[in-house]
Amino acid sequence: MKPIGLYIHIPFCSGKCPYCDFYSVKTNESVYDEYTEQLINKIRSLRGKYRTDTVYFGGGTPSLLGTERLCRLLDAACESFGKAEEVTVEVNPESAPALDFSKLAAHGLNRVSMGLQSSDDRELALLGRRHTAEQAAYAVGLIKKGGISNISLDLMLGIGEQTQSSLEKSIDFCAELEAAHISAYILKIEEGTLYYRRKDTLPLPDEDSVCDLYELAVKRLEERGYRQYEISNFAKPGFESRHNLKYWRCEEYLGLGAAAHSFIGGRRFYCTRSLEDFYRDVTADDGEGGGKDEYIALALRLTEGLVFDRYEKRFGEPVPQSVINSAQQLLPTKLIRITDEGISLTVKGFLCSNAVISSLL
Ligand code: SF4
Repeated sequence: MKPIGLYIHIPFCSGKCPYCDFYSVKTNESVYDEYTEQLINKIRSLRGKYRTDTVYFGGGTPSLLGTERLCRLLDAACESFGKAEEVTVEVNPESAPALDFSKLAAHGLNRVSMGLQSSDDRELALLGRRHTAEQAAYAVGLIKKGGISNISLDLMLGIGEQTQSSLEKSIDFCAELEAAHISAYILKIEEGTLYYRRKDTLPLPDEDSVCDLYELAVKRLEERGYRQYEISNFAKPGFESRHNLKYWRCEEYLGLGAAAHSFIGGRRFYCTRSLEDFYRDVTADDGEGGGKDEYIALALRLTEGLVFDRYEKRFGEPVPQSVINSAQQLLPTKLIRITDEGISLTVKGFLCSNAVISSLL
């Protein structure tokens, strides 16, 4: 049985960040208990049906569940789908200190992803985050003390009042905390968020400044030893997220929990944004997945790009000549590069990846 990824969505947060459109609710311990029980039942009901080599608890804020519930979930996943090689839990700086990381590590946890966003407390306040940089540094210390060194930190680009110098400081802050992996996302104003309603009054940098911040981030991260491997993801050698690579390489994954998405057997499906729907096992079909165009679009998010051999192995035919011709036409723009191995986007190309990918397809 080919191993797949397991994603478990924990849809709870202590408050709502004004820019966030992930599904999460503010609730109480009894709901955490009920949700954990339902997840465990679901995992056990699928016992032996899948083998997983990566497990990822995302949210929301999985750390809010606390050590005992997380350990029970880790055990259930391991008993039902086998021991995974990479097991990640997302935490935030304010709830992480309540966790017992050595106990979690004993139950299989070996990677932690923390939403830091910035090391500048003023930027954090503008983002509506409920922690300081010092709290984040303290939490990272506890994670390491618990024996987990594979730590990923999230940064955000394009925050109100962010400057090149404050961004460099945030990157250096992560490097000094010895993060193995850094995700640097450009702030997007998503419909339905508080930021969206206030978008005309937010003091956000203009598009050109955001592009400059992105290029600076790529350069500074490289200088600090983080190799870019995806549009927004950077890692010390060997610390790329194996779980997230499955998404970009169009490999299978099972998503459990409210709002979790799955890709199994060529079909995409998901549980809607509702605890009740998850409890009642309601899923929605999202159509076929893993087709040629989707594969190419996702591969081009990676710095390795669209690898000719890998495509041919998967689809039993070479990359369409039309794609190669379009890529050749784009060469003078310096948004793309073509080698004997494949086609990939440059840093400038990543900044307008949607347009570049559409023109290739
Ligand atoms: S950004 Fe993270 S902590 Fe904030 S509301 Fe969204 S999921 Fe919760």
